Amino acid sequence: MEEVLVEWAKAVHRENPVVDAHLDLAAEVYARRSFGERDVVERRYLPYFREAHLNVCVSSVFVPSKDLPERGLRVALGQIAALREDLEPVRDVICVVTNREELEDALQNGRIGILLSLEGLEPIGTDLDLLRAFSDLGVRGAGLTWSRPNAFARGCCKAGEMMEISGGLTMLGREAVAKLEELGMYVDVSHLNNDGFEDVVECAGKPFMASHSDAWSVHENYRNLRDDQIAALASRGGVIGVNACGTIAGASVYPRERAVDCLCRHVEHLVSVAGEEHVGFGFDLCNGLSASTPRLSFDEEEDDLLLNHGEMLTLSGALLGRGMSEDTLIGVIGGNFLRYFRRVLS
Ligand SMILES: [Zn+2]
Repeated sequence: MEEVLVEWAKAVHRENPVVDAHLDLAAEVYARRSFGERDVVERRYLPYFREAHLNVCVSSVFVPSKDLPERGLRVALGQIAALREDLEPVRDVICVVTNREELEDALQNGRIGILLSLEGLEPIGTDLDLLRAFSDLGVRGAGLTWSRPNAFARGCCKAGEMMEISGGLTMLGREAVAKLEELGMYVDVSHLNNDGFEDVVECAGKPFMASHSDAWSVHENYRNLRDDQIAALASRGGVIGVNACGTIAGASVYPRERAVDCLCRHVEHLVSVAGEEHVGFGFDLCNGLSASTPRLSFDEEEDDLLLNHGEMLTLSGALLGRGMSEDTLIGVIGGNFLRYFRRVLS
């Protein structure tokens, strides 16, 4: 890529908020610390976060299926504890933020803020009251389920599969949406099946989001959103984070060195359907978690189209090179998700 585009992207990142709305950080930190590793975030992520001038990152709390149901609650709490322990030595530069005040404080003082979000409500079993406990721990968002059925909803199939899974939210799932909204937690529809999405549109009273999903029109994969779903989410004030997983984005038809073009097509399509204020990044970079946790039952390993957060600059440069305006890019790299989080957290 032309150096002038990378320099342009760097300047835009330096001067504007940069957000990644989905990273399985807590799960990886939990796994690595269980093997005795320390300073996981500082050594493996912080240099790249800095390179991209990242300001906010959402860490999922994701319990692998092998730990369900019995160990779900324990693993979720363990992940939150492990992440906080791991960040303690570097708390002046990167920390968990649990409310609007902490978010603004981090932004003003140049600290990277980590928001916590449950990727699936399995840790609470069927006990909705436990949502308040997670809220009190600082968890600010939740998807009802990962790509699997539970007491609240049915997930879509995994990225490497291709089958429609029917069945909407359960009664408990609808109650969970109401409870999340009451607690000031956002609802994340990535991983939800199509019937479930429809039910969320019907029962959600507040803007909901899709932290890490791409566009079905660009690549047919059940992890992705159809145009009518993109429009529905945007009309409710939500934001969609573009996923950099090769299987989900449909990158196999691109030569490796042009993989970023695949992501650009998703960004551009989402912007054209949702509008420029409703698109962001939720890269879902999984290579680190896959390497730390064997037998996770992900579909593919080493499938990330961006090898680290530093490569966000390549993506932003490519978007500028393809004709995206700087104003639109400013929203996409973080402005849109930041506005959404401010609204949810206040
Ligand atoms: Zn996911």
